[in-house]
Amino acid sequence: PHNHHQAIIPIKLVMIGAANAGKTSLVVRLVKDSFQPESLPTVGAMFLNKFFQFDGYTIKLEIWDTAGQEKFHSLAPMYFRGSKICLIVFDLSEKDSFVKAKLWAKEFKSHSTEPAIMALIGNKCDLPRATDALEIEEYIKGEGMYYFEASAKDNTNVNNIFQILADKVPPPS
Ligand code: GDP
Ligand code: MG
Repeated sequence: PHNHHQAIIPIKLVMIGAANAGKTSLVVRLVKDSFQPESLPTVGAMFLNKFFQFDGYTIKLEIWDTAGQEKFHSLAPMYFRGSKICLIVFDLSEKDSFVKAKLWAKEFKSHSTEPAIMALIGNKCDLPRATDALEIEEYIKGEGMYYFEASAKDNTNVNNIFQILADKVPPPS
């Protein structure tokens, strides 16, 4: 039977990274289980919710996606404020996308107001790779970040990534 008394923990998660990396596509795949070949300007809301049930509590991920402001490198500080999980997305088939991801990670750190879980996401793993695996490995080791590869197109690893990260948030005491 459904337990209506379970605690629901709201967690803010932000999506950052270069334009065209697939941030919106990952969110749309997660929340609506669909994919569009065209570029998606925005999910159409400030954030979308995704619930993950754990033993004795539920995490409500409030997933913030940009409305394309990353093109102008102008995300308002309120975008970062209070976020407990940050996904830095890059396109595995575009070398420059990884370079930009590193800059976005710096940007997040300079604005974040509390300790946050940071994860680098190599998206579009269905396409031929242009990024060096060793370079990625050294970077994430140095930064203490998680790393996952995904494809919003083929639905590879998408739900899994959000669930694993939600599970890393300390449970309520
Ligand atoms: P955003 O600017 O980071 O939000 O990127 P979008 O989600 O708008 O995606 C940019 C483009 O990449 C669109 O044409 C998507 O269809 C495409 N795309 C997104 N994810 C994938 C993927 O996993 N594989 C492939 N092949 N294309 C993708
Ligand atoms: Mg987008």
